[in-house]
Amino acid sequence: MSNKNDVELILVGNELLRGDRKDSHLEYLGQRLLEIGVRLDHAHVVGDERERIASLIAARVALSRVLVVAGGLGPTHDDVTRDAVADGLGVPLEFDENEWANIQAMFVRCGWKISESNRRQAFFPMGAVPVSNPRGTAPGFVVTSGDSMIAVLPGPPREFRAMLDGDILPQIRALFERPPLVQQTYRTVGVGESKLTPLIESLLARFQDLTVASLPHVAGVDLLVRAKRNVQTAGLDDFDLELRSALGHRIYATGDTSLEAVIGGLLAKRGDTLAVAESLTGGLLGKRLTDVSGSSQYLLADVVAYSNESKTKFLGVKEKTLVGHGAVSKPVCQEMADGIRVATGATYGIATTGIAGPTGGTDEKPVGLCYYGLSWAGGGDVHKRIFPGERDAVRQRVVWASLFLLYERLCGSLCQGRG
Ligand code: ATP
Repeated sequence: MSNKNDVELILVGNELLRGDRKDSHLEYLGQRLLEIGVRLDHAHVVGDERERIASLIAARVALSRVLVVAGGLGPTHDDVTRDAVADGLGVPLEFDENEWANIQAMFVRCGWKISESNRRQAFFPMGAVPVSNPRGTAPGFVVTSGDSMIAVLPGPPREFRAMLDGDILPQIRALFERPPLVQQTYRTVGVGESKLTPLIESLLARFQDLTVASLPHVAGVDLLVRAKRNVQTAGLDDFDLELRSALGHRIYATGDTSLEAVIGGLLAKRGDTLAVAESLTGGLLGKRLTDVSGSSQYLLADVVAYSNESKTKFLGVKEKTLVGHGAVSKPVCQEMADGIRVATGATYGIATTGIAGPTGGTDEKPVGLCYYGLSWAGGGDVHKRIFPGERDAVRQRVVWASLFLLYERLCGSLCQGRG
């Protein structure tokens, strides 16, 4: 068995080093490789400099079974990847008449004017097999060196992904012949890392064929559970049972499902409806809820009532309450939730009010102070929190907290988690 790394990625482009573009290939390739049980061991970023790219390729090809190189295959003078790969492997470039005919035919089909510089795109390192580009003009290529494979693809993500999925991944899969990775993502909310860590440690002590990565985000923690390399029966089913019995409904989904999609499913299943009244979140809560396809089935309205007057006019918040407690207060939040529920006839009203900052805070009501609450026929539940962070972070946190409150209510839980 080879001691080499499985796969390394080499990203080419000054724009990536200077922050003009954000890379998206690393995430995509890493994910796709995991699905076929292959590791992405290293990723490198290098500018559009022929010598640097060439020496990086020469160094890494000795250490890795597969190099995936992306970018710099266009027709312009700064597109030097094909030359650099040839240099790095110590082979000359050769002109491919067949590919040149294909490139010319594509320009004719699209009605574009071809220029002499496009000829550059028909040169390949000796021994390379061209890879056609279904979404652009620059062909890629695959070339071997010893027992290593070098796949070179254009930079634009649409082109990179189509060629990776269509041509390169099948070749990588055949090279390694690994069983697909056993993995599952558990999405949790309302349970802090301090509770999760000892639980995960005790489970891992018994499920030694599994690894767990804990990925916290603004309001919850995603647990990425994977079988160790090449282990097919790693006990994921038993692990699943134990994790679920420890965390219950705080695992709101597995895979990519969002909390708002789960909430939508619960509302739709019961035939319940929801209406939203937002102040500091300015429509963010409604946006999250309407990101879910089919949300019109249960979401009746989202009113952004930013001023005191609009809270009174559209939501029926009493002037007396606003004057007596201020717009950022528990009673106002409750009246907002009640008001939108009654006005729309929804099963649940949900409301947010608070001070997102950076201005507007006082000693009594500091930046980050938020109220979020629910209303239903015969009851209500408003929570107060002081959220840390910048304006956007505060707003995102209160959106998550509101969704979590609704989720807890829909799950019929007695505990209103403060996660
Ligand atoms: P082209 O024929 O389009 O020039 P190319 O292979 O020469 O193809 P580059 O010139 O390196 O590709 O990059 C073209 C564009 O693709 C960049 O401006 C950038 O928008 C995008 N791109 C390149 N690399 C990446 C990357 N790693 N992640 C995201 N986008 C990228």
